[in-house]
Amino acid sequence: MEKTALVCGAGGFIGSHLVTKLKNEGFWVRGVDLKKPEFNESSADEFIIGDLRDPKVIQKVLDRQFDEVYQLAADMGGAGFVFTGENDADIIHNSGLINLNMAYYGTKAGIKKIFYSSSACIYPAYNQEDPDNPKCSEESAYPAAPDSDYGWEKLFSERLYFAFAKNYGLNVKIARFHNIFGPEGTWKGGREKAPAAFCRKIAEAKDGDTIEMWGDGKQTRSFLYIDECLEGIRKLMNSEDFNGPINIGSEEMVTINQLAEIISNIANKNISIKHIDGPLGVRGRNSDNQLIEEKLNWKPNKPLSEGLEKTYKWIENQVQNDKLN
Ligand code: NAD
Repeated sequence: MEKTALVCGAGGFIGSHLVTKLKNEGFWVRGVDLKKPEFNESSADEFIIGDLRDPKVIQKVLDRQFDEVYQLAADMGGAGFVFTGENDADIIHNSGLINLNMAYYGTKAGIKKIFYSSSACIYPAYNQEDPDNPKCSEESAYPAAPDSDYGWEKLFSERLYFAFAKNYGLNVKIARFHNIFGPEGTWKGGREKAPAAFCRKIAEAKDGDTIEMWGDGKQTRSFLYIDECLEGIRKLMNSEDFNGPINIGSEEMVTINQLAEIISNIANKNISIKHIDGPLGVRGRNSDNQLIEEKLNWKPNKPLSEGLEKTYKWIENQVQNDKLN
């Protein structure tokens, strides 16, 4: 029989790609989100526009059986949205309500398996002060000290889902994503993340121009291309006995200066950087892939430049289309 999936957050970047992947694997898919995907038609069989903070919407969305549920809906964005402090109440309230509703009504509706997208932002700030040696192994999450309220909500929701697993037998799978990027993601407007922001700035710049960067650019991060993220999600969902939490991220750590340099090289432009004050987050962060390799017998291994090439091409197109409009 055809397998069925529900994707919450199906209008977002990762959710819309996930719907396509599930469709390609032969699932019947219902998507739900406040909005349809911005850059493409959804491949979902059914798309419900609805607010998952509302229990009535959740109950409607869960009015049939699903083999798999993916909960990716969240009030979220890049550093310019998450680290300014201006959106913290909304982030905790909105995403908190979505997850509280989903865990409770999902259990009541008898869903068989649920995936929850947590984040590398849950890791303690005190382990990420040295840009060359950040510690992000899964067990290092406690004693907890995330550097943002976004991270606290994610950690709370991890605990929420695992509590429902413990007390009500909900089959929960949790991954902590590390900076996922790719085509068809937010690339302007204030919620975009570093890879998209630099692709946009460099696509808009002329050869020899200067672009702005928040901070000294020596802070480190790793970035994972969307296709490998989806592969990791599916492997975790298909794992018989491992529930996570697990890192899904790349171990190719770069400074933000290096990130901008790789993109400039792809664009074949000579670009200078002007460092300015701005919201930053921790000094260093990298995925630790020991556990995923051990438990799922797999880890991401594609070079960062490969994903950036595809992403740059897509954003360059968006920039050109924007100019024409
Ligand atoms: P996104 O913002 O593109 O997608 C989230 C979607 O949730 C949006 O389409 C939004 O409209 C929807 N949503 C928000 N509030 C809603 C509500 N009340 N009801 C219904 N839908 C609602 O973000 P994304 O990059 O696709 O991230 C997906 C998930 O992965 C999120 O939970 C995010 O926190 C997590 N995550 C992403 C990254 C990353 O690098 N992209 C890293 C760590 C964790």
